[in-house]
Amino acid sequence: MAATGQPTIEVPFYDLSALHRQIRPELDAAYRDVLDEGQLILGAHLARFEQAFARYCEVPACVGVANGLDALQLILEAFGIGHGDEVLVPGCTFIATWLAVTRVGGTPVPVDVHPQSCNMDPAKVRDAVTPRTRAIIAVHLYGQPADMTALRTLADEYGLRLIEDAAQAHGARWAGRRVGGLGHAAAFSFYPGKNLGALGDGGAVTTNDPALAESIRRLRNYGAQVKYQHESVGANSRLDELQAAFLHVKLPYLDGWNARRAHIAERYRQALATTPLMLPWVAPDADPVWHLYVVRHPERDRLRAALTDAGIETSVHYPRNPGDQAAYAHLPIDRARLPVAQTLPNELLSLPISPVMTDDQVATVIGALQAVLY
Ligand SMILES: *Cc1c(COP(=O)(O)O)cnc(C)c1O
Repeated sequence: MAATGQPTIEVPFYDLSALHRQIRPELDAAYRDVLDEGQLILGAHLARFEQAFARYCEVPACVGVANGLDALQLILEAFGIGHGDEVLVPGCTFIATWLAVTRVGGTPVPVDVHPQSCNMDPAKVRDAVTPRTRAIIAVHLYGQPADMTALRTLADEYGLRLIEDAAQAHGARWAGRRVGGLGHAAAFSFYPGKNLGALGDGGAVTTNDPALAESIRRLRNYGAQVKYQHESVGANSRLDELQAAFLHVKLPYLDGWNARRAHIAERYRQALATTPLMLPWVAPDADPVWHLYVVRHPERDRLRAALTDAGIETSVHYPRNPGDQAAYAHLPIDRARLPVAQTLPNELLSLPISPVMTDDQVATVIGALQAVLY
């Protein structure tokens, strides 16, 4: 115990500085390159990263944008989704998934989540579809891909756009295929704490549809393909050269970092399987990337306090569903249709998992959990 009464931190939730120390010389070189070249917006570094990330996601097109929320919003705009339109979203997700819909004037309609995967439950989609439904945003929450096979079938049946919110799932696969190419378009975030993070904000849209990619390219740049010829009412939402250069440095490390996350997840699974914790479930078709390792327990707050006392940082993703936020008090949400989503926020606990977590730190977390659970 430190003199203040606060336990010293033995296991930080994610030590980003440690990650960046590992590749510091390459990041420094990228910074110097951009500075020497002088082009800071819409230059060669962005084009190079877009190509590399498209190849990584196994899709023909990637368009860099300012952040993940903008990526989602620009996709909806490019599809002409707006006022009067309904978009199906998971009842449990980060609020950005819903914000994209309301920012274009649409209405988010929550669908309950699957009790094991915490992702949108395809069996609950039919009841939520109305004549005004235009799209589904499937979130690959915690790095676990949503059931894209079932959602694709439903989207085709009802003529809906299927959009992936892949902000937490860079590199994950569903039925052998990378997320980012499993629907009509996908949104990625490069917020620093994501599996692939910039040194600031960033985002991207990936798609198999070259025409959609061109629309997004226009929309992110004031609606203009050619300078001062504005064909649509666009935004200023570009991934800048510095962030693109940093991301290009980090991308080749992503699979290794994801493998380290998977190794830690497997150690947690083996050590905690016999405890009363409900552990993350991996669908048979899923190859997740463990953005978060989220366990469930009815006495979450007691567990969390015990871990804090042991110097272990944890988090809760998320303590309140978007539909229960003050921002959406005006939405008519039928909570009786969301029984699973309604219980999750009280039970979820995110354990530390990151590529820079040491074996000793993993053992510390396991030991502390076993001590409090037995
Ligand atoms: C982080 C995140 C976003 C938003 O990305 P930003 O880059 O922070 O705007 C959207 N959806 C999900 C599921 C996220 O985790």
